[in-house]
Order: sequence, then C-alpha cells, then structure tokens
Amino acid sequence: MFRKTLSLMMALSLLATACCPAALAEESTLYVKKVENLPEDFIFGMDASCVPALEASGVKYYNFDGQEEDVFKILADNGVNYIRVRVWNDPFDAEGNGYGGGNCDIGNAVAIGKRATQYGMKLLVNFHYSDFWADPSKQMVPKAWANMEIEEKTQAVYEYTRDCLIQLRDAGVDVGMVQVGNETNNLMCGERIWFNIQYLMQAGAKATREIFPDALVALHFANPEKGGSYLTYAKKMDYYQVDYDVFASSYYPYWHGSLENLAAVLSTVADMYGKKVMVMETSYAYTPEDTDFNGNTIGDGGAIVKNYPFTVQGQANNLRAITDTIVNKTPAGIGVVYWEGTWISVGGNSWEENSALWEKYGSGWASSFSAAYDPADAGKYYGGNAVDNQALFDRYGHPLESLKVFKLMREGNEIAPKADALEDVTLICDLNAPLELPATVNAVMTDDSRQAIPVEWNLTEEQREQMHTGGVKQYVVTGQAGGMEAKCYVSMVEYNYLTDYSFEEGGNGWTWTDLSKADELYVEDKATDSLTGSKHMHFWSAGANTVEFTLEQKVENLPAGKYKFTVSIMGGDAGQHEVYAYVKVDGETVGTAPMSITSYGNWDAGVVPEFDHPEGSEVIVGVYVRCEGAGNGAWGKIDDALLNSVK
Ligand code: CA
Repeated sequence: MFRKTLSLMMALSLLATACCPAALAEESTLYVKKVENLPEDFIFGMDASCVPALEASGVKYYNFDGQEEDVFKILADNGVNYIRVRVWNDPFDAEGNGYGGGNCDIGNAVAIGKRATQYGMKLLVNFHYSDFWADPSKQMVPKAWANMEIEEKTQAVYEYTRDCLIQLRDAGVDVGMVQVGNETNNLMCGERIWFNIQYLMQAGAKATREIFPDALVALHFANPEKGGSYLTYAKKMDYYQVDYDVFASSYYPYWHGSLENLAAVLSTVADMYGKKVMVMETSYAYTPEDTDFNGNTIGDGGAIVKNYPFTVQGQANNLRAITDTIVNKTPAGIGVVYWEGTWISVGGNSWEENSALWEKYGSGWASSFSAAYDPADAGKYYGGNAVDNQALFDRYGHPLESLKVFKLMREGNEIAPKADALEDVTLICDLNAPLELPATVNAVMTDDSRQAIPVEWNLTEEQREQMHTGGVKQYVVTGQAGGMEAKCYVSMVEYNYLTDYSFEEGGNGWTWTDLSKADELYVEDKATDSLTGSKHMHFWSAGANTVEFTLEQKVENLPAGKYKFTVSIMGGDAGQHEVYAYVKVDGETVGTAPMSITSYGNWDAGVVPEFDHPEGSEVIVGVYVRCEGAGNGAWGKIDDALLNSVK
C-alpha cells in the first residue's frame, strides 16, 4: 500500500514539475513572519547523524522538484548552513554489529562532513564520549575507558578528540564548531562530580584549539526550565576556568519550559560570563501519526504541551518562534540547530521488514546488539524511529514545506492566513440538562491567530439520548469544520451548580449573616476538619445563645428544571439546637431538611430532595444554624454543598 501511494505521489509531483517548475521553486504556501535583525551568518543547523544508515537501509531523499538528490544539497539549498553530527567512540559489539542510532562513529562523521563541506556547510562535531546515547540521565563511559582513573581518562579524551579532529581535517572537512559532551547536566563519560568532569571538558577543548583553532568550542546542557541550573553550570565552568565559547541548550517545547524562560536563562549566562549562546537541539511534530511501526515519543493525547498544532505549518511556526527568541530576545544568540530532521522511516511495509533494516544498518534508535553495552535500557527497548513525525521530510523522503522556513524567515512570506488546524473543544454537561454543542470552533490560522468557523457535529438523536442515560462518562464527538475534523470532548457529569461548593476559594459566592454575635464565624483552612478539600465554614461561640447565623448562596444562571440540594454539618457542644438546610425560590421557602450536631467527625447531611425552579425565578440555597450552647460553647463545621439536577 505504501509503495502504491509513493508512485502516485511521485507521478503527481512530476506532473506539477512539468507544468510550472519556476513557480514551484519560488512560491510557498507556508506563512512565515519575517524574523527581524536576522544576521547573515546566523547558524541554521541540522543534525543529520542518521543519514548514512538510512541511505544504507534504502531511504532516498527528493528535492522540491521531486527529483532524487543528495539530502545535504537539499538542506544547503534550503538555507541550512551547519550540519551537526554525533560521535560515539565505538558503537559496535565484539562481532562488529552496530548498536543503532545511525552507528555514529567518527567514520560516519567524516563521511557526513565531506558531504556537508561539498555543499558549503560547516560541520558541528558532537562528541558524546560514550559508545552510545548520552543524555542528562545517562553518560556511560566508553568500553575501552571503563577502568580508567580520571587522569588517564582525561588523557584519553584529549587523544581521542585530537585523533578524530585530525581525521576530519585530513578529509578536508570544514569544522566550524566542536561540542565537548552532550547534555552534560552533572554527568559526563561516567564521571559524576564537576571536579572530574571539568578535566574532561578541558581536554576536549584543548584538542579542538590545537587542530581547529578557528572553530568554536561548545558545551551543551539540557533542561533550561530547571530553575537556576544553567547558572550553576556556568559558575562551575567559570570557577574551573574551562575554555569554551558557546553555552548551548536543548529546547524541546513539550518539556523545556517557555521561550521567555529560555531567553532569560541563556541571556543571564551570556551577560555574566561573556559567552555566546544557542539552541543546540529542537524539533516539533508535523503530524501525530507514526510512519515506521515504532511508536513515537510525541503524539496526540497525554499531557503534552502543544504550543502549535502538529501540522507542517505548526512545525514551521515553532521553529520561527525559537529563532526569533534567539535572534531578538537573547543577546549573544548565534544559532538554532534542528535535531534529526532527516530521520525518517526506513520505508518497509511492516514492523518485521523495518526491524530487519534497523538491525542490519543501525537505522533505528537502537538495535538488539546494544544489549552488550546498555542492557538496562537500549538492550531492552531497542527498535525503530521514535521521531519520524518530527522530521522535515515526509515518510517517502520528500521535503515538507516547513523545510523552506529557514530561507523564508529572512524575507518573510506573510501571505493571507488560512485555517490550518482546529482547536479541540471541551465541555462539561449535566446528565439531566440538554447537551448544547457549540456552533463554531476555533480554527488555528497559519499565522497562529484564531478564527471562529461554523462546525457540523456528527451526533444522532439516539447517541445524544445514550449520553444522557449512560451515567457519568466521557465522550468524544467529532464533526466537520473548514474541511477538517473537529473534536469535542464531552464529560457527562452530575453537575454541581454551586460556586465554591467546598469553600476552597474562601467562600466565594457565599453570604454568611451573623444574627447573634458569635465569637467565630469564618472559612477555616484545616484539612482534618473538612469533609473534602482543606477548607470549610467554621463557627464557635463561648456564651449561651450566641450562635445563630445563616449561610446562603444565590444561584446565578441556573437553567429551569428540578433540583436537589444537599449540605453537611458536624460539630459539638450545641445543646438545644435548630439546624436545617433550606431552599428559597423567589423569596419563598420551598423546602427544608433538618440536620443535627452530635460529635466531632460525625457529619450529617441535610437533603432537600426535589424542588422546582421555573424559568426566570431566583433560587437561594442555605443553612440555618441556631445553638443554645453547652459546656465550652457550641462549635461546628459546614462543608460540601451540592445543587444537582434531578430527572
Ligand atoms: Ca515511529
């Protein structure tokens, strides 16, 4: 099925090329707001570490004219000026089987570097100083360095870095930046203390200065959202006098806080320590769909922070926002690198077919062979590509329109905005009240503005009825708006029409009237004395006959119908007392329910089981309390008032 679609797509794209090649190259349907003050030499990087493994697996890349072409030329033609490549010391087992993730050794980096240089792009060499993935939680020492003390390991880092850089230099690769360690938040190369880590960083920097004196030395960290962490790292580097030029950060918008925060923390480091700063990794999903039978890190659902829709335009808008932040809100910001935007599906028709390719060529995130090195993680969960939906190429290797964003940010492409996606609607509906679905939904426009457009919901009378008789439950109602699928998440509930029903907002919406000068009558914050939550209405008074009050809420915007009122009380030392829940409609008491005060923790609920609320009438619900008092004075707590509809 995939193959068929592919040939149809190719035919269409060839047809389009034949009729108007110039127009295709020049125009874009992508809305791009110009990034002001964008320097000519601003770094637009692409991590393309997996490309050789993908090509070995059969992946082909196409340019915007639909012709197969070297992906590095395609990237260069579209405004990418830096290629980033990760380097693992020895990502192979004893039999020479690759661990996967592109089997990115220095040979892979040289091959990529030569192609980048051929098309006028600089190489950013990313040393992990590990045999496989290094990230904030995992910085495993390379096999060959496993038992080294810090002095020996420092020398090993120096020699290894130097040797790799010499290979790149001898191959004629234009190395513009060298990254010493990857996401080194407190860990690096098996070391866990900064006193040791700084030696390793110094060694990598020293080798870089010797072999590529004009290249920038970068250190790379993650989690800018963790308060104060970047300043701590920068202070450590300064204290140990680590020689580096660029303080770089990962920024995945789903996890890494706001752009405002990113700009603030990077600017602080830049200002205090005189460093250049940049985003070393970012990416964004263009679709929630998986394309290679290996589930993705990011998809629909869950608690994912989604600043933009998962569309090609959303992907471009995200990259544009990050670039604007680094250019205009982060002094000393020098670049943004997109992570593995070329890592697409290996293209097989089943998991089995793809798995064979991942195992053979290392084109998945990890192969089974990685168990030899990392048995606890990669060796257990090995498989394919979890980021194929964040690439800038589709599953067949054709560039997405979003690849044009690098170039378009320079001049802008502020075309008329169009509807690009729909915002989901969420509704809470009372089981006994009519379900009213909205007549419009918000379209997310290509310029990220919002516009309400009419929607047609797919909901039969029968389904509607079922929702009202099916009890407390959640439903997804779908519909059509602007040629797209709209979604309304409906929660059918026993709706409580009262405001601040449990006094957690301090009694918002409630009125209490002290009729006899009680010593204490207020909303108290004490979880152990509350029915639910941490707050309730509290009363106490020492003297006899000094407790008499009403606690009321006038209910606003209550739909006409039949309702039930419930409220609970507990207390003690009340002596002779009169306590009841009541309901007034247009000033007339239409129902009361007696309650009694006994002892601590014995909550008594007063229930007015049913009353009519005609259209346009005023409803007040409340509690009346009067205590003669005994011993130490009457006291009590009132909590959890419920006003529910009844059939
Ligand atoms: Ca996948």
